[in-house]
Amino acid sequence: MDTLDEFTAEPMIAYFSMEIGVKSDIPTYSGGLGVLAGDTIKSAADLKLPFVAVTLISRKGYFTQEIDKDGRQTEQPAVWDPAKDMRLLPEQVLVEIEGRAVHIRAWLYLVTSPTGGSVPILFLDTDTPDNAPEDRGITDSLYGGDTTYRIKQELVLGMGGVRMLQALGFHIKKYHMNEGHAGFLVIELLLRFKRDIESVWDERSVWDVPRVRDLCVFTTHTPVDAGHDKFPYDLVRKLCGKLIPFDVLKDLAGKDSLNMTLLALNLSKYVNGVAKKHGEVSQHMFPGYTIHAITNGVHSFTWTCPEIARLFDIYIPGWANEPELFVRCGNIPEQELWDAHQKAKKKLLDHVKKTLGIAMDPDVLTLGFARRATAYKRMDLLFHDVERLMQIAEQGRIQLIYAGKAHPKDEPGKKLIQGIHGYRDRLKDKIAIAYLPGYNMDLGLKLVSGVDVWLNTPLRPLEASGTSGMKAAHNGVVNFSVLDGWWIEGHIEGFTGWSIGKQSPEVATPEAGDAEDAKDLYTKLENLIIPKYYDSDKRGWSRMMKSAISKNAYYFNSHRMMRRYVTEAYIR
Ligand SMILES: *Cc1c(COP(=O)(O)O)cnc(C)c1O
Repeated sequence: MDTLDEFTAEPMIAYFSMEIGVKSDIPTYSGGLGVLAGDTIKSAADLKLPFVAVTLISRKGYFTQEIDKDGRQTEQPAVWDPAKDMRLLPEQVLVEIEGRAVHIRAWLYLVTSPTGGSVPILFLDTDTPDNAPEDRGITDSLYGGDTTYRIKQELVLGMGGVRMLQALGFHIKKYHMNEGHAGFLVIELLLRFKRDIESVWDERSVWDVPRVRDLCVFTTHTPVDAGHDKFPYDLVRKLCGKLIPFDVLKDLAGKDSLNMTLLALNLSKYVNGVAKKHGEVSQHMFPGYTIHAITNGVHSFTWTCPEIARLFDIYIPGWANEPELFVRCGNIPEQELWDAHQKAKKKLLDHVKKTLGIAMDPDVLTLGFARRATAYKRMDLLFHDVERLMQIAEQGRIQLIYAGKAHPKDEPGKKLIQGIHGYRDRLKDKIAIAYLPGYNMDLGLKLVSGVDVWLNTPLRPLEASGTSGMKAAHNGVVNFSVLDGWWIEGHIEGFTGWSIGKQSPEVATPEAGDAEDAKDLYTKLENLIIPKYYDSDKRGWSRMMKSAISKNAYYFNSHRMMRRYVTEAYIR
């Protein structure tokens, strides 16, 4: 492909995300947000939507995780070579930062679908000889650096991204902000559509807020306060001077600091959370705005392992571009589903043996847990009462596989990783425990397809959606999860999986909540999950695997999600 003509001929939806994860070799993602962005783009390509995505090149990636024998995480930059998969475009745009003109270029990566659709992704890059040395690194490190660095990155993403789309000849009919990081794009649009002073009543109405609002869509992703960027106005002034008058900016982005979420909320016609419950929680956080909900989904083809995909091809042809066909999952013979699962499980256990030297048994009930290692995900809830856990493991053997990175500055997150390693040593004669380093998309697929039960124990209501459980369901792996995020919608007790704790527990303290959830976890593991798994007749378990596919994968896929964005957000 030599020109972008194919994409500039018709009006497009521009999707902005600080991180995008399309595959493990392009390590420009840290977790769920980026992988969701990748899945969004893949579904847009499959469905032939007029779609273009904008992100940063993150030349040093997120980071490469190493874990020593005691569970201490160390980080190395994940340097990668954009030239391998991407083409550097000749166009340059400028954004002024600290009084200097920062040059921005774009790498073009094309996501192509077997349906014939394709979506360009523009990876913005400031590492050009035209830039001052301190500006060349702005697009290097995903979520690295201090507040100043973050503001610079967001200026490049939001303002630089809009300018780049224009320089390349794109016509944009909607700008979709995947999280508030791209919020500066609304400032660029306000500048672009500034009204002539002669034509308006008062000075303020030169800023055509209604016009910009009509063009913007905003998806908020987290009820965790730290997840919403807030920048001191002094710093903003120092870095980018007066973009628009500060009194106008303060009306739009908050009095005390520049709140990127508020900015996006005030200038988006359509705003949504990423699961029904998260929509409600967000509505509560931001009264005065209308917050809708579109529950996340995952890209079915990407997140189904080859062993299971082969069965789908035989019994549900067409599933990858029409995941609604999972409703016909009943056609798959139970024995074949079980055998395919066992193959995927062996692959994972081989990987565990090879990386960690830990031997695991394919006939033992295996629980998996992989997420960002951060406190609210409660990675260690399963070990709340170690004696009780050991008792349970005597009635039916279990083995556990963990993975997940802690942000380099998240000390409590790092302690969690160490903690799991401590339990690994302490319990080694009773329960085999493996912590796999380097959680990425490839390892993610191995895990969600190779374990028997996918465990999820977040502190309610902090898991906005969660998506790894949806990936598990695509592989017939049943969920055992706290009722939060997507699982409130996906869970049918004893049918698609099991819940942990009450949906709205009334507990006096977080500690009491942990204890209550752990108790329920142990009771169900002991009385429901272990007996079902070790039943001599494997058909009961296989039937649950099928329900996970026909009731969960059927709905929690990104094709369904994108159809909803089109009808509810994009064409309005
Ligand atoms: C899917 C995925 C996530 C997000 O999973 P959650 O359940 O939302 O925590 C994070 N990291 C990787 C590598 C993934 O593939």
